[in-house]
Amino acid sequence: MRVEIDERSGFCFGVVRAITAAEEALKQGSIVSLGDIVHNPIEMGRLGKLGLRSIDHTSLRNMRCGKVLIRAHGEPPATYEAARDNGVEIVDATCPVVARLQKSVSKAYEEMQAVNGQVVIIGKKGHAEVEGLLGHAEGNAIVVENVDDVRQIDFSRPLYVLSQTTQSPVLFDGIVDEIRSRAHAGITVRNTICREVAGREEHMAEFARSYDVVIFVSGRNSSNGRALFDVCLQANSCSHMIEHEGELNREWFENARSVGVCGATSTPRWLMERVRENIVEIKNN
Ligand code: SF4
Repeated sequence: MRVEIDERSGFCFGVVRAITAAEEALKQGSIVSLGDIVHNPIEMGRLGKLGLRSIDHTSLRNMRCGKVLIRAHGEPPATYEAARDNGVEIVDATCPVVARLQKSVSKAYEEMQAVNGQVVIIGKKGHAEVEGLLGHAEGNAIVVENVDDVRQIDFSRPLYVLSQTTQSPVLFDGIVDEIRSRAHAGITVRNTICREVAGREEHMAEFARSYDVVIFVSGRNSSNGRALFDVCLQANSCSHMIEHEGELNREWFENARSVGVCGATSTPRWLMERVRENIVEIKNN
C-alpha cells in the first residue's frame, strides 16, 4: 500500500516564524503566549514541555512585568497598550502579512469615516485575527461570516471590503458577489487572502482525489483545518479527520491501495510523519 504525505500541507511561514520566536525566547528565560500559538493540541503539548504556557487577555491585564509573545494572528492596539501599562515586554510574532492587513484596515477605516462609509471584514466572528483587525477599526467594522450576514450592512453607504487572511477563496467570492449586487454607493473590494493559503483548497481537492483513503491531521479547534477537511471530504468520501495517530482506525485501510496524509496550516510536519508511520505499521500487522 502506498502511503504519502502531501508536500504542501503543514505550517505556513507565519506559524513557523512564531514558533521559532517562542523557542528562541524560551532559551533565554520564561515567556507566555497570548492564546495558543498554533491551533494544534499536539504541537502545543511539545511547546509546553519546553516551558511555554498560554494566557488569555484577562491574565495579561493582571500581569506585572515578564514577557508575552504575540502570535501570528496579531492583536488589536489595546493589547499593546495593556502590556505597556503593566511593564510587560512584548515579543511580537505577528505574521508580516497580517501586520500589513492591519494597516490596510486602519487606512480603510479612516477613508470610510471621511465619507460616512463602512468597513466590512469577511471572516470568522471571534477568530483571533479578526478580533485584531476589528481593533484596527476601533471596533467599528462589520464582520461577515456567510452570505446571510450581509444583512447587517447598510448598502446605501460606501463600503470598503477586506478579508481575513485564511478565508476560503470560494466563500469570499460568493459573499463579494452578494454585496456587489446590493450595493448602491461606492464599493472598494480587496482580496486580502494570504497567498500561502489561497491555492491550498484547489490543491487539497486534487490531492484527495488521488488516493483511495485520505487521513487529514488537524486540531479540531482549527478553522483552517475544518475548512480544508470539508474540501477533502467533498473530493473523496473516504476522508477522515484525526488529531493524532491514536485515532487511526484499522477498518479504514482494509481495501485501500493508497493513502494520502495531509493537514492544515497549523499541523506540524513531524505529526504527519508519525501518522504515516503508524498507518504503515497497521497495514503490516
Ligand atoms: S496563513 Fe498567511 S497570513 Fe496567516 S499566518 Fe500563515 S503566512 Fe501569515
